[in-house]
Amino acid sequence: MTLPELLSSETGMLLAGLSLGAVAGSFLNVCAHRIPLGQSVVSPRSRCPQCKSPIPWYRNLPLVSWLIQGGKAGCCTFKIPFRYWLVEAFVALVFGYLFYCYAQIPSLGLLVGGCIFAWLMVAVVVVDMEHMIIPDRFSMGGAVGGVLLSIAFPSLHLIHQSNDFLERFGGGMNSLIGVLIGSASMYWIGILAEKALKKEALGEGDVKLMGCIGAFCGWKGAVFAIFGGATLGALILLPVMVVGRMRSNEKDDSEALAWGQEVPFGPYLALAGLLYLGCLRSWVDGWFDSFALVFRTSSVG
Ligand SMILES: [Zn+2]
Repeated sequence: MTLPELLSSETGMLLAGLSLGAVAGSFLNVCAHRIPLGQSVVSPRSRCPQCKSPIPWYRNLPLVSWLIQGGKAGCCTFKIPFRYWLVEAFVALVFGYLFYCYAQIPSLGLLVGGCIFAWLMVAVVVVDMEHMIIPDRFSMGGAVGGVLLSIAFPSLHLIHQSNDFLERFGGGMNSLIGVLIGSASMYWIGILAEKALKKEALGEGDVKLMGCIGAFCGWKGAVFAIFGGATLGALILLPVMVVGRMRSNEKDDSEALAWGQEVPFGPYLALAGLLYLGCLRSWVDGWFDSFALVFRTSSVG
């Protein structure tokens, strides 16, 4: 098999996605660490947090260096947290999956838009879990970028027209409607939850994040992300809370997650958005369509 043949095959695309994803995941770790601190993501070069020596390129290879050096920095005894490796591996897998899908159904919109969206969502998960904030660069920057990408690649919204202008217009409108419906739904849910719970329930960051999810996924994806995110949150957090409560009753552990304690909602919205664009889209859209059909037939009959 020659090199061009390999690159155009499914295996070649998978390998290309995995490598590009590992590099993107490594850059994500840098961004997730520096952006909340207000530092530049390009300079200075990475340094070891313990002995401050610069990290040479061969000790900074995504995924590989961590494995070869057994989780150590290489310059001194500093242990690089497993979390960084996990983020690189996850982004590599998602990119690999999207590239593999492209080899089967070549849609440039889903490839480019999907990779950028996945990168943003993983960054939101990492930063929101650590700092309880979602930087505007990810949420608002992502919303603007999503609309522009939808004009450049209308196939992100599965729009195919014979007229090029109509196709781009449709992509941009789908994205813009997604931004508005996504953020407006989140805003209203926040207001109603605030009235019901008599305290601030959702942050402004979640409203902006929903704009970004809507820009890439359209309004159906945005509505799904809210309900899917709440379901995911309940599925993951309830067992953690129940176990934490049982353990805290046993030995008065104040560290345990308490009822009504503030937990970030952003990561669950992000994961639900990712699930929609990655694999659940046809199922969710079909559900919305059958719902619309019920309304149409009932209004006729
Ligand atoms: Zn060191």
